[in-house]
Amino acid sequence: MTRDQDRFWSKVIKGPRENDCWLWVRAVADDGYGRFTLNSNGRTQAVRPHRFAFHLAYGVDLDGFGPLMHHCDIPLCVRATTTADTHLSVGDARVNMLDRQAKGRDTNGSGFRWRGLARRQFAERSKTLRDEVREHGWDREDRVRALLAGVDPDAPTLF
Ligand SMILES: [Zn+2]
Repeated sequence: MTRDQDRFWSKVIKGPRENDCWLWVRAVADDGYGRFTLNSNGRTQAVRPHRFAFHLAYGVDLDGFGPLMHHCDIPLCVRATTTADTHLSVGDARVNMLDRQAKGRDTNGSGFRWRGLARRQFAERSKTLRDEVREHGWDREDRVRALLAGVDPDAPTLF
C-alpha cells in the first residue's frame, strides 16, 4: 500500500494557498474524472483518484463508502482530509459543508460551477486544467485560477 500511496501522491500537485485544491495531473477519462490504476496480486483496478484519496485519509475500504461530493466542484481535486479543510465528503455531511462553504465562499475565492456542462465540455475542462498544471505546476497561477473558475484564459476580455 505504501508504494501505491507514493505513486498516487507523485501524480498530484497541490496549490500554493492554504485552501487550494490538490489536483490530479495524470490520466483523465472521458467523464472528466481522473483514473488511478492499482496493481495488487496480479490484478489491476482503475479507481477515481478522489476516492483513493478519501480511502487514504479515512482508512476505509474503497468500496466502503458512498458517492463523494466535491465542495470545490473540481473533479480532479483529491483534497480529502479528516479536518475542516477537506474538499471532499460523503453524502450526509453535505448539509454541514454547504453551510460552511456558503460562509467561507468569499475567503476561498471559488465561485466556480462546472455542473450543467455537457459531458464533453466537462471532460475538456478537466483535461485543459490537467495539462496546464502538469506542464507548469501552479507557476502560471492566474491561468490556473481562471481554469478552476471555468473561464477560458485565452478568450479576449469583454470589458
Ligand atoms: Zn478542491
